[in-house]
This record gives sequence, C-alpha cells and structure tokens, in this order.
Amino acid sequence: MYFAHRNLNLQFLFPWLAGQGSFAYRGGKLTNPARFPLPARFILFVVLMLLLPAIVQADWFKQQAKIMGTEITVEFWDEDTAHAKRCAQSVFTEMHRIDALMSPYKPESELSRINQQAAKQPVKVSEEMFNLLHKSIQVAELSRGAFDITFSSVGYLYDYRQGSKPSEQQIQDSLEAIDYHHIQLDKNKRSVRFARSGVRIDLGGIAKGHAVDNGIAILKQCGIKGGLVSAGGDSRILGDRGDRPWMMGIRHPRKKQGVAVVLPLSDTAISTSGDYERYFIENGERYHHIISPRTGKSVNSSWSATVIGPDTTTSDALSTTLFVLGPKQGMQLVESLPGIDAVIIDAQGQMHYSSGLLAPEAQPDKVGQPKPIM
Ligand code: AMP
Ligand code: MG
Repeated sequence: MYFAHRNLNLQFLFPWLAGQGSFAYRGGKLTNPARFPLPARFILFVVLMLLLPAIVQADWFKQQAKIMGTEITVEFWDEDTAHAKRCAQSVFTEMHRIDALMSPYKPESELSRINQQAAKQPVKVSEEMFNLLHKSIQVAELSRGAFDITFSSVGYLYDYRQGSKPSEQQIQDSLEAIDYHHIQLDKNKRSVRFARSGVRIDLGGIAKGHAVDNGIAILKQCGIKGGLVSAGGDSRILGDRGDRPWMMGIRHPRKKQGVAVVLPLSDTAISTSGDYERYFIENGERYHHIISPRTGKSVNSSWSATVIGPDTTTSDALSTTLFVLGPKQGMQLVESLPGIDAVIIDAQGQMHYSSGLLAPEAQPDKVGQPKPIM
C-alpha cells in the first residue's frame, strides 16, 4: 500500500520508482514493484514522461463549477470538444436543478416546503424526492438509526461558518424530534408527513451522491465510455481512464494537501465523509457537520470514512453512516454488505480497511488490522 504522494498517476504508472506496492482492488493483482537498477529506471522514466502527454492526455476534457456549495468536477474522454462542452453543461444544469429541489437553505426548495408543512399535513412530493426519502429510511433501518435525515431537528441549530452551536438545553429540547420513525411516507399518495412537530429533515448526507449518479447517467446518454463526475467527497467513475484505472486519493484528514491513501478504481463509486469539511474549533473541541442522532452532537470517533460501492447515492449515504458508527461497528456493517468496501481513519490516525481491499504486504492474518497513516 502506498501513502501520501503528490503525483498519483505517476506513482501508479511507475510504482517501482517509489519502490513500493499499491492497493489492489477486486481482482486486481497484488503488485510488488519490479526491481530495476536505478539508472535504467531513470532513463525509462524520462522516455515515458516525454511520450506521456501524447499517449495519455489527449482529449481528456475537464470542467469544474461551484454548485451545491461544493466543487463539481466533470472529466471524460471526448474527441469532439463542442460535444464535450454541451455534455458537461448538461451535468452542471442537473446539479443546479437538484440544488434548487433539495437545498435546506433555499426557502422555496421542495425540501424546505416539506419542513415547513409536513408536521401539519401530508405533503405531496415529486417522485424523485419520494424515492430519495425512501432510500434514506432504508439506510436508517440498515444502520439502526446512525444515518437519520431527521438529525436536522437539532443539526439546523449549528452554524459552522459563524462558529455557533446550540446550548445543552436547546439540544435536549429538540433531541426527541430526531427519529426517522417520525417520517411517514404514503406510497399511494406519494406524500410525506411528520408524526410530530419540531421534526426537520436534511438530505446533505445523500443528495450529492444522487446528483453525481444523475451526472453519470447524463454522460452515458452522451455516449461517453470513460469519465468521472465528482461533487466534493462523492465521485463516480465510468469505465477506465484510458487503459488504466482512475487513481482516487483519499484526502489526509489532517494535512490540507495531503493524500492518506490511493486506490486504483474502475466503474465504481467512492464517497468520503470527513470531520474537516465543515467545522469550527472552540476550546480545543471540534464541532463538525456529522451529527450523532443519539446525542445531537458531532461524532468524534473518526477523522474520515470512505465507502466504495456500486453507485454514489449508496456510497454517499453509507460514508456518512460509517462516520457515525465509527471504525468497529462501521466495519462490521460493511463486512455484512456485499459489493461494499470501506476505509476508515479513526481519531487516532489509524487506518482500518475492509477485507475486499487487500494491501500487498498484508498477510491473511493482518487483513483488517489498523495501520497508522503518515
Ligand atoms: P457527507 O459529507 O456526505 O458525510 O454529508 C455530511 C452531511 O450529512 C452533513 O452536512 C449533514 O447535512 C448530513 N448529516 C449529518 N449527520 C447526519 C446523520 N447522522 N445522518 C444523516 N445525515 C447526516
Ligand atoms: Mg455522505
């Protein structure tokens, strides 16, 4: 396994330069670097570097935009730049549409309308909203309430930009409103109702994943075979990056530009939830945006939780879930879910990874043992 390195692609292409192996994922080889003499490595490196731009970089189209309060990146192979621009624009338009529907900060969004009215009467919602609420409740059931979109009944009282938090009394007064059982969905009428007052929902732990899935669907409709859509910590990969996997770095939770680990991935989704995304520190304590539904306060058992899964709606919801559950219970849940893998960096800086992710040096008895990150 290799750690923090600035040039991820280079390290994958030339793992023997770094003299270390790489993570292997699902069927990939456990690579132990070939041992070339240093001068030969250097000459080969220079030759390949000269050829690289022509071989690898041609026609990879990349565009970024700030939407939903986060950086959206769309990158894909397309030989027709005008076509590529149109496709990227369609993805951004879709992200704006979802933001307008699901933002808790926009009073006219569908989500805000639910929060304003659902305690008084059933609120008819769009099919898209209904499906996402349904999926959120499924994840809440799966995680026994660790993932719970009613966290917002207390969560809305925090303002991470202003550095303000609710008092103990305010938390206690609103804590009972956190419980996904208070959300009543009526499939026939496609409506949602809250069983009591004070309940608020927020889709911040799943909506970006949904938006990325829709972005990938748009790229597929555009005929794109290899590409990536990412929204902050949620990314979905379509195919390979040319003839090799995409190198996806998991950010080092305590070093701004650092990478804790790199995963070569193809045709999959990856989401990371971290305590460094939205937070403030007061009296040495970190108050951040992932809230325990049990206490109404930030969870402090991990620095980050990363989930690899088939789609970003799932990986997004599960990364938030694992962050709340912490390394032990989180990994137990992951091991029970087929097709899901995870890397959790705990609050001591130890990295835990699921059995589907094999490190090259890992002996069978060491798989799953935590390792320090650098
Ligand atoms: P992510 O970065 O995907 O983990 O999403 C974090 C966001 O999930 C937060 O900003 C909240 O909007 C939301 N969230 C926080 N705590 C929870 C929770 N316990 N269950 C569901 N969503 C949550
Ligand atoms: Mg999430």
